[in-house]
Amino acid sequence: MKKNLLEYDLTGLAAFCESLGEKRFRATQLFRWIHQQGVGDFGQMTDIAKSFREKLSQHACVIAPPVISHHRSADGTVKWLFDVGGGNAVEAVFIPEDGRGTLCISSQAGCAVGCRFCSTGHQGFSRNLTTGEIVAQLWFAEHSLRKAAGSDERVISNVVMMGMGEPLQNYSALVPALRTMLDDHAYGLSRRRVTVSTSGVVPFMDRLARDCPVALAVSLHAPNDKLRDYLVPLNVKYPLHELLGACIRYLEFAPRDFITFEYCMLAGVNDGPEHARQLVALIREAGAGRPWCKFNLIPFNPFPASGLQRSDPATIAAFAALLNDAGIVTTVRKTRGDDIDAACGQLAGEVQDRTRAPQRMARRRAIPIHPAQAPVASTKEPDLD
Ligand code: SAH
Ligand code: SF4
Repeated sequence: MKKNLLEYDLTGLAAFCESLGEKRFRATQLFRWIHQQGVGDFGQMTDIAKSFREKLSQHACVIAPPVISHHRSADGTVKWLFDVGGGNAVEAVFIPEDGRGTLCISSQAGCAVGCRFCSTGHQGFSRNLTTGEIVAQLWFAEHSLRKAAGSDERVISNVVMMGMGEPLQNYSALVPALRTMLDDHAYGLSRRRVTVSTSGVVPFMDRLARDCPVALAVSLHAPNDKLRDYLVPLNVKYPLHELLGACIRYLEFAPRDFITFEYCMLAGVNDGPEHARQLVALIREAGAGRPWCKFNLIPFNPFPASGLQRSDPATIAAFAALLNDAGIVTTVRKTRGDDIDAACGQLAGEVQDRTRAPQRMARRRAIPIHPAQAPVASTKEPDLD
């Protein structure tokens, strides 16, 4: 079977080149063609020796999972739904803002953590994505957006692992994907422009600190263990004092950084002034009084099965003011891409029947991707029955 080269970071690609009897340094050229130029057809890699290109055509390929649908929201947000086989679909969302372009990508099909307020959590866990499937979301999005804009300029300046899945429960695939994002011969994103968001898998927060200390966002959602056990079941295994301890340790490896805490605002559940006050005490104690974190309040994106509701804007503003007044920098996330179900926690939220999900979703909301926007060697059409 041909090896998909999106599976490799530069070190892995060098080893692959060696296995084909080529010098390891040839990998750099190949890596640049794939990730910087978006070229997946070895025939187009004109400055690579013909004999090497022939070997590559025989043993390798560069392929993103098929795109089932592609939507552009009125506010410029773009969402792609990728078919990762076996009835599973994952999503990536591009969010353009002044001076930057953020891509939100998925790490798993479904999620095993099962948070109450998350539609991915309600869906259950299907499988881990491979490194190639994680990187393919960036590769495909970057190069199709460039083609759509008719430009060679970089479009995506930030990546957040905030799509479907818990990235730190797919650690071995995650790290080479992060390395590819950071590599100057690929996307060259700085460490602070790549964010891993976690519900708090403590041992892997420690490993990430050592292996690849990118920006860390932690989904907190509650100021005490009782409430967090209920909202984020992983808290039973890694309670708040362990989680906050891991955050403080992380910062030793990410100097001058802050941890970003995400806090989903749920009406009448975690949004009262008493919750804000408990948070202030918790944060002060963990950080021994010095500033070490920021808060990002996320207005809950409702979905029927959750039985939960979004806090009203005045409650969110009061909560933010309480934290800000205590010296904890707090922002409220703007909701983007609402009209295409691309807001947080809405990603592939309708997948329930996992065996036919991509087909059902394609029928319901397919807008075919324009061929001119597809990077080379991208996709096959999904089977619609
Ligand atoms: N599993 C990781 C990353 C994916 S979830 C994590 O939990 O951090 C990305 C963010 O979206 C998390 O902060 C999560 O809590 C939030 N989120 C999930 N469902 C949501 C919803 N329905 N409304 C608002 N935010 C949600
Ligand atoms: Fe999984 Fe994150 Fe959703 Fe929780 S919020 S179920 S960890 S994807």
